[in-house]
Amino acid sequence: MANTEECTHDCSTCGANCPSKNKESMIEACNKYSNVKHVIGIVSGKGGVGKSLVTSMLAVLTNRLGHSTAIIDADVTGPSIPRIFGVRPGVDGTDDGLIPPQSENGIKIMSVNLLLDSETTPVVWRGPVIAGVIKQFWTDVIWDDVEYMYVDIPPGTGDVPLTVFQSLPLDGIIIVTSPQELVSMIVEKAVNMASLMNIPVLGIVENMSWLECPDCKKRIELFGKSHVEEIAKEHNLKILAKIPIDPELAKLCDSGKIEGVGVNYLDDAVNEIVK
Ligand code: ADP
Repeated sequence: MANTEECTHDCSTCGANCPSKNKESMIEACNKYSNVKHVIGIVSGKGGVGKSLVTSMLAVLTNRLGHSTAIIDADVTGPSIPRIFGVRPGVDGTDDGLIPPQSENGIKIMSVNLLLDSETTPVVWRGPVIAGVIKQFWTDVIWDDVEYMYVDIPPGTGDVPLTVFQSLPLDGIIIVTSPQELVSMIVEKAVNMASLMNIPVLGIVENMSWLECPDCKKRIELFGKSHVEEIAKEHNLKILAKIPIDPELAKLCDSGKIEGVGVNYLDDAVNEIVK
């Protein structure tokens, strides 16, 4: 591996066998009709912490700022993006590739749930098949004119998230945590994985940080005290947002109406991405 101080950032003229060099060589070419400017991955340590919700809200806010926006739902065994946006199964295609369905406000979406007959059909595929499908979401879909693409990456650091890290040209990742997780370990793993692939970590979003009592307005820390500040400091990361448990958000997700979201928890995070 090249000494960091000696690195010229030009792998074509360097003999060192850095992980970043390997990463570059494994990135898949996108469809010839695609034009994607920025790709941001959203990761988490485990399922159920709100990664899909955060991905969806980031896309909605980016789209509202007037940028053409897309989402790849790479969480193939737990795909929830179409439901959150109220987009129904059915994808058109041509000989050149698949055409991603769009949300009401024009966010382009690709998810395995859009390709299945029914939302409730389980995806009982092994890791390599799932990884192949995710690659195809990048190579075989026509993503023309996309300024910001968000990728909902499967939780953890197994072979499927690894495939996403290696085969999609991620500009950066955002880590979503919740206070009940072993946040320190999860963040460290995500940071290490990103650093191995030479991908910047844009920051952390802590979800389900508190619940506001509807009567007395007191903040209840349902999952205990948050340690996100110390962990962010330890890894020199920005805290992009803290999101409370908000029954309105759950309702918007369940009814497919996330584009109507009125709260501004992720405004700072979007400003960090759309600079
Ligand atoms: P993940 O993608 O990490 O598996 P989801 O985004 O699918 O998690 O969220 C899991 C469930 O929790 C969903 O039903 C979602 O609507 C709900 N949820 C997530 N974050 C919040 C929140 N801040 N307030 C209320 N409900 C939430």
